[in-house]
Amino acid sequence: MSSYDAVDTATRVLVLNSGSSSLKYQLLDMRDGSRLAVGMVERIGEKTSRLVHTLPESGGDSSDGGSSGGEGGRERTGRFADHAKALEAVADELAHDGIGLDSPELAAIGHRVVHGGLRFSVPALIDNGVLAEIERLVPLAPLHNPANLLGIRTARALRPDLPQVAVFDTAFHTTMPEYAARYAIDTATADAHRIRRYGFHGTSHAYVSRRTAELLGKDPSEVNVIVLHLGNGASASAVAGGRCVDTSMGLTPLEGLVMGTRSGDIDPAVTFHLRRVAGMSVDEIDELLNKKSGLVGLCGDNDMREIRRRIDEGDERARLAFDIYIHRLKKYIGAYSAVLGRVDAVAFTAGVGENAAEVREAAVAGLEALGLAMDAKRNTVRSGEPRIVSPDGARTAVAVVPTDEELEIARQTFALIGEDRPAIA
Ligand code: AMP
Repeated sequence: MSSYDAVDTATRVLVLNSGSSSLKYQLLDMRDGSRLAVGMVERIGEKTSRLVHTLPESGGDSSDGGSSGGEGGRERTGRFADHAKALEAVADELAHDGIGLDSPELAAIGHRVVHGGLRFSVPALIDNGVLAEIERLVPLAPLHNPANLLGIRTARALRPDLPQVAVFDTAFHTTMPEYAARYAIDTATADAHRIRRYGFHGTSHAYVSRRTAELLGKDPSEVNVIVLHLGNGASASAVAGGRCVDTSMGLTPLEGLVMGTRSGDIDPAVTFHLRRVAGMSVDEIDELLNKKSGLVGLCGDNDMREIRRRIDEGDERARLAFDIYIHRLKKYIGAYSAVLGRVDAVAFTAGVGENAAEVREAAVAGLEALGLAMDAKRNTVRSGEPRIVSPDGARTAVAVVPTDEELEIARQTFALIGEDRPAIA
């Protein structure tokens, strides 16, 4: 228990997001949620890996020479053969700045874990039992959970005494009622193979729905929010009084909205057709629907900026891709309005949701009957702050709320390891 003794001074949390060949990290100070370091290692295990390390909010430290990289940060290339070598290099960078992993101010490490199944509805303090449970969920997230486990095992080897917490992408959605979470298929088959709707991006939906309530000056328990997380992956959620009651992603992140490279909703019989008539293998169909569909499948581009540029030049394929994307979004806004009954706010977030004013405008256009309206001027103001873009007095507020999954993971990690830690803003 010795690591818990430093409870008053240990206010930092390291957030790790470990992918199959990448390791993203952020070091946050939980007194104010500020970022002491942000970085990533890419191409782990390949011939040349790259580490980029920045100190975004290090202004206060500038006098003591620790932040030699300055605002632009530091870049290191070399070969990091595995995640252990990559994390060692990250630890070196942090130590160089005087904020190393051995610092008594480091309270915990928070890990993003993609799939928590039905087992994890809240973050978990990692021990061997939790590791075994995450392992058991690998068949449900064969690409992600093994990479997340790698990050956890590596960090535990480096700091075995430090509390480490797993924060699950699926957890926020475990409050979905059974009638929203179950597919209408044979129950025995579904149960035998754990087939149900789990949902993803939960950390973002949790953070954004709570921030939206704050923006409205209300407690989360008082508001109903539709969150539209529109990044390269995209998902919608219906949040009633702070609890998720429906979400658009399902067993996997393939269901729901049109995404950068994923089809979203599709008649499942398309897959039989591709197998039987087009002669494609299951892996080829998987790749088609996950990597070669969505916006990229429709028009060759998945970056919304490029699609808008092409539309401005009169490109018909880009126009149709945009229209299909918006049509699906509107259907979800309508469906979740019906699910929630009363909607206090529709919140846009992530790369497209935060930046593409045209997407927000088109998604809301014509939905006056649902109480939605847009203030064109507010909508086009660029800002990194949460803001309302609907006119004053609109029945349903339209909000832009930048997501911050790392801060949310750090917050949940910090909350779990000690109830009487200083609260952050
Ligand atoms: P994310 O997955 O949240 O990082 O979002 C990435 C996506 O955001 C990119 O693929 C772009 O399509 C989109 N995006 C980022 N910046 C802009 C922008 N200024 N305007 C429109 N789309 C943007």
